[in-house]
Amino acid sequence: MSNELKDDLRRFIHWGPITLLTLTLIVTWTVIHMNSMWWAPGTSLESVVNYALIWVQTFGTLYNFIRSLMVGPGFVPLKWHPPVRKDKKFLQFCTRCNGYKAPRSHHCRRCDRCVMKMDHHCPWINTCVGRSNQDSFVYFLLFFMSGSIQGGIIIVSAVIRGIQKRWLIRHGLRHMATVHLTQTNLMACVFSLGVIMGTTLASIKLLYMQLKVILKNQTEIENWIVKKAAFRRNAYPQKRIKAFVYPYNLGWKANIREVFLSPGDGISFPVLPGCDQYSLTREQLQQKKDKRARTRVFRCIRPATGHWVPIFSQRLWVSLHIPCTDDPRIALKPDDIIHVTRIQEYWLYGERMITEKEKVKMSRRKGAIRGWFPSCCAVEICEDSDSENDLAGGEPVGEQDSAAVEHVDTDLEILELLRDFCCEDGRKTKRLRVK
Ligand SMILES: [Zn+2]
Ligand SMILES: [Zn+2]
Repeated sequence: MSNELKDDLRRFIHWGPITLLTLTLIVTWTVIHMNSMWWAPGTSLESVVNYALIWVQTFGTLYNFIRSLMVGPGFVPLKWHPPVRKDKKFLQFCTRCNGYKAPRSHHCRRCDRCVMKMDHHCPWINTCVGRSNQDSFVYFLLFFMSGSIQGGIIIVSAVIRGIQKRWLIRHGLRHMATVHLTQTNLMACVFSLGVIMGTTLASIKLLYMQLKVILKNQTEIENWIVKKAAFRRNAYPQKRIKAFVYPYNLGWKANIREVFLSPGDGISFPVLPGCDQYSLTREQLQQKKDKRARTRVFRCIRPATGHWVPIFSQRLWVSLHIPCTDDPRIALKPDDIIHVTRIQEYWLYGERMITEKEKVKMSRRKGAIRGWFPSCCAVEICEDSDSENDLAGGEPVGEQDSAAVEHVDTDLEILELLRDFCCEDGRKTKRLRVK
């Protein structure tokens, strides 16, 4: 068995696919069992169509589920770089994959690979939804939703018929009193109905989001980039930053064709006139640069365990204010340096810098290096603002235009104001000035 196939099969060993397959099995058994009493196939043409439809929906759901899981989203090859050398300056570098991030690709920390046209990581298929499996993921949702609705109607109708059994016999309708309710099948019906209600609502929401993504040819992540692009321009109108045109929205017909008929190679995509392959990545680089300008450097003064609820190592108050996100939590040791990009009163989000010791020994400490940690574990180091280049985090940065450089100056002014604000409130952060 090839390693690739082993990796694909390994994706099944996860709570997402196991739960989904188990629930599908229980619900399908319940639906078929109740249907055989309520509307047994063979009694009429309609009953055969109804029965066939159950199997078509089940097969369609399972086939597209397995396909979107096995095919996967499409990963950018490791150590990838653009064919033209000078184009590297328009792209971000992924240190995990040791290669450049192709346009529209993003690194997924759960898959630990750069994913082509990444939309989101789906725990139910235990992989990302991206360029190669978006079509089968949408088909899966469609079959799943319609199958759930049909299953729900069958179970409710059968249970009602079962409850009416005595009444039907009393009124001479014995031929309709076919559903016999037992403790086991009633429990299975209640359980299945609960599952159906929850999963139908979830699949309708997911399908709606996916259709929006397909019609606009804009993934969830790209949608966020476009919002940030608009924010940058609205926040600083005096800087007159050139308007950003999202390059991949070619009209709904062409967008649908791209997903279902011609997904391309996942590296280059058709773009609007006036745009090029790097229109989006240039904007991303500018946004990254802005983010770096907002980065603040902290030093660890107290160990952080990396636990989600550090009730024993930290104060109760810290545990009661955990960030409501599934971002990782990082463990810290005294003197670790962290580049912080998000600040909450009790928690900070940042990236731990790899220590010289780790570099020399070539062995990195276990656990994530980017994530949340309690704010009382670190103090801020105030350095001169011209150290911006030191905060690059090891990723090559593209060429910057003058508008963006001016923008950074404004950000630094805001940063100073923020720092003053934080210093007024001694509980939030302590400051340590280093020369
Ligand atoms: Zn990567
Ligand atoms: Zn992923």
